[in-house]
Amino acid sequence: MKERVAIVGAGLTGSLLACFLARRGLPVTLYERRPDPRVAQVERGRSINLAISERGLDALRRIGLVDEVMRDALPMKGRMIHPVEGPLDFQQYSATQDRAINSISRGALNNALLDAAAAAPGVEIRFEHRLVELDSQAGSMIFETPAGKVEATADVVLGADGAGSAVRGQLLAEGAVSEDVDFLDYGYKELSIPAVDGEFALDPGALHIWPRGTSMMIALPNPDRSFTCTLFWPTGSFDALADAGAIEAHFRSQYPDLLPLAPSLVADYQYNPVGVLGTVHTSPWQAHGRTALIGDAAHAIVPFYGQGANCAFEDVVELDRCLDDTAGTWARALPLFEHRRRENTEAIAEMALANFVEMRDKVASPVFRLGKRIEHA
Ligand code: FAD
Repeated sequence: MKERVAIVGAGLTGSLLACFLARRGLPVTLYERRPDPRVAQVERGRSINLAISERGLDALRRIGLVDEVMRDALPMKGRMIHPVEGPLDFQQYSATQDRAINSISRGALNNALLDAAAAAPGVEIRFEHRLVELDSQAGSMIFETPAGKVEATADVVLGADGAGSAVRGQLLAEGAVSEDVDFLDYGYKELSIPAVDGEFALDPGALHIWPRGTSMMIALPNPDRSFTCTLFWPTGSFDALADAGAIEAHFRSQYPDLLPLAPSLVADYQYNPVGVLGTVHTSPWQAHGRTALIGDAAHAIVPFYGQGANCAFEDVVELDRCLDDTAGTWARALPLFEHRRRENTEAIAEMALANFVEMRDKVASPVFRLGKRIEHA
């Protein structure tokens, strides 16, 4: 008898995980609180693009999706620093010319993974199912749906439901795990730079950074030749710009080269939400050998290394490997997965925090630039 697996959350981790488990011949039900994003409107201002690196591509390669995902990818070979005054400064990431991180659409990646999961034998996807109750020992779940509450059971329950994981919340309430969430005193807000006469307004071969000491803005290119900018500012400072005049004046003095490129700046600023940022530490990641957390649900990190999704994809590959190494015995595979991944996820969590200081401050310093030139020589 094959175990019936429930995956809660059909984001990047959950939909990739469904593809991997389907290859093992396991019956999988994927539950997602949102409507199907392939037919519904996406939320405004929610991280439109992502930097995917070799760590994430490795997982996609294993399920034959890498070519499809990379077709629209925009390779970024270095970072372009935008000072308040003076010339732009391109800093190549690697001495090897062909090395790059890739800007891709989060929505397109999620949709490609959902298509692959939906086409995989034994996978069923239930949208508009929000997990509200879980008994982690019995494997029983209750979902809220437009038609009312729905009960379900599974032999294995995997929480891939993101940083604010309901599965983690239920495990916490049961006393099965403990958590520590370190919120950063910074929030993020997205702005956009449209294409100009069908062309990119900035160099699409770079990740653009406007380092401003205690805050910063970055911009990544999109396949439609626009750029999505993300402001990372101290939380309270977003509200300090109360009207269109204050917004324009601030950007004119701090981000002067952005103003002519961003005609919808004031509207984006006023209507796009401020997202929260934080690091999630959970221990353990599994209970009773049948319920576990994976991806952001287990270990969300701040986005400054562009590695959260890459790291979640590595989780999926490692869990699959643990199932191989334990002859498919979940009660042994889940603790082994945590044992093998924890040290790595803690390391990237620390590096991501450290990279915030580097991106917002050190990349603009002459000493740092000199160091980088020597390293690349
Ligand atoms: P999520 O993407 O959060 O998906 C969770 C899913 O679970 C969602 O679909 C949600 O609707 C669903 N869900 C939630 N609760 C329930 C419930 N109760 N019942 C059912 N379903 C539920 N990573 C990178 O690798 N590169 C980057 O460049 C990068 N940039 C980022 C920029 C920003 C501003 C942010 C915030 C993050 C960035 N990340 C990046 C991190 C990346 O977005 C996450 O690591 C990744 O989305 C984690 O995927 P996930 O599937 O684990 O969680």
